[in-house]
Amino acid sequence: MSAASAGCAGCAGQCCRKYRVGVTVRDVQVLAEGTAMHPGDFLRLLDTDKDGFRLKAGGPAKGLYMQHVGGKGSGCVFLMEIASGKARCGVYAHRPLVCSNFPLSLQRSVVTLREDTLCGPDSWNLAAMDLPAYRRDLLRDKDAKVEHRQAIETWNERVDASGREATPEELYDYLLTCPIKAAEGPTV
Ligand code: SF4
Repeated sequence: MSAASAGCAGCAGQCCRKYRVGVTVRDVQVLAEGTAMHPGDFLRLLDTDKDGFRLKAGGPAKGLYMQHVGGKGSGCVFLMEIASGKARCGVYAHRPLVCSNFPLSLQRSVVTLREDTLCGPDSWNLAAMDLPAYRRDLLRDKDAKVEHRQAIETWNERVDASGREATPEELYDYLLTCPIKAAEGPTV
């Protein structure tokens, strides 16, 4: 998904079609600011067994995921179809860090190619990638996840104290006003 990598030159956007792309509060703010769209227009709330936002006390935890549109295989709401079966991210400068960092991860502080990608590790040439920039964004994503967990905790405490069920719209409004360090887009 990154233009810095050779693997995306012939990309059909399989990762944007098939993965459930989970995002952080920071990603939501960057996307909302960069596109002037409301989170309700590009997010969907899905049950998660990880940390998540509850709409009522004792209710299921919800994760924040990129919305998919259309029928089977159409993918993320921001995926743009271009000529000859290829596709590109329509919000490239504002895309979530999990998208810009793809297909890399930090393993014991080392920037490493993920083995589990749909296109396979051979689609990527690590030597041609801007690894310092990826490292910076991978660390920013790690930081964003800490903020994300704090936002979940604060929201869930509010829901528990309110004694009523919150709406998804109230949660989306909360996501836009959560204090975060910097709503900056990815560097790669
Ligand atoms: S935001 Fe862009 S890169 Fe990320 S899943 Fe959507 S289309 Fe793909």
